[in-house]
Amino acid sequence: MAKIGFIGLGAMGLCMARNLIKSGHEVIGFDFSKLAMDAHVKNGGNIAVSAAEASAGANFAISMLPNGDAVKQAVLGPNGIADKLPKGSLFVDMSTIHPLETDQIRQDLSAQSISMVDAPVGRTSVEAEQGKSLFMVGAERCDFETVRPILACMGDTFIDCGGPGTGSRMKIVNNLMTTSLNVLTAQVLNFSDATGLDRNVSLEVMAGTAAGRGHMSTTYPSKVLKGDLEPAFMIDLAKKDLDIAIKFSEALGVPISLAIQAEKIYKDAQADGRGRQDWTAIYDMLRKKQRPNS
Ligand code: NAD
Repeated sequence: MAKIGFIGLGAMGLCMARNLIKSGHEVIGFDFSKLAMDAHVKNGGNIAVSAAEASAGANFAISMLPNGDAVKQAVLGPNGIADKLPKGSLFVDMSTIHPLETDQIRQDLSAQSISMVDAPVGRTSVEAEQGKSLFMVGAERCDFETVRPILACMGDTFIDCGGPGTGSRMKIVNNLMTTSLNVLTAQVLNFSDATGLDRNVSLEVMAGTAAGRGHMSTTYPSKVLKGDLEPAFMIDLAKKDLDIAIKFSEALGVPISLAIQAEKIYKDAQADGRGRQDWTAIYDMLRKKQRPNS
């Protein structure tokens, strides 16, 4: 069984640490909050007076902290993890932070011969509590294999994102999608309500189309991701529908700001001569314009 220093016992960290304890590991926790430390002791954990002390003699140090500054402080600051984590042990950051901060922390730690795994968490504290988190892992292959049994105590899905730093990148890509879709979902449902439609009808219809099923698992794989730009549904028609939605929502007093942004990009696609291409060709256009060497 491993000895694990666990820094950050908040909504996520506390449940994750508890699942490690349940699996028989010794978990020494540290958090600024006394309440959090008390809860960890109640769960059967030990506590330390600093991140450094929690990591002393540990096989792994794990951080689950709110942001990059907190991770830097806990790892590299005074009384930080790097002061006491033994050489050959692994530092695993599960926080969601800027990928360039992840790279910098990894570089600073490697100067001290400490290896780092970035393994941010998908899903929410509900799944963390049940031990059913998803981990997006950025690590050297041997480090991935070393940390896998530890992750298995806290989650049921571990995805190798392709080497050091990729877990952190994947998490930001994933959350860009989910956070932006959340706003679009709110705006669209609010518009739907304003039209007088029954919300359940709206939900039922959209659950059966790309609106609710998602482009990534429906239209993209069968068209643009295969290099097929022949229209299943063409950009000109998509833009026409978007224009109607924008006008109607404005008439109802519930303008949809994300639709107005999207309309500009459909217009660019038409100006780029893509009006009769499949609507997923927008990805092809952005890729070629923004990353011409890709
Ligand atoms: P939280 O605010 O509940 O917990 C963070 C804990 O870290 C707090 O208890 C705080 O006291 C402690 N802390 C802050 N700085 C510290 C330091 N330097 N040393 C020691 N302790 C310190 O946050 P959370 O919801 O547990 O989220 C943690 C991370 O996980 C965030 O990066 C978040 O984006 C990510 N995340 C959260 C969820 C979720 O559903 N809550 C899901 C996936 C990922």
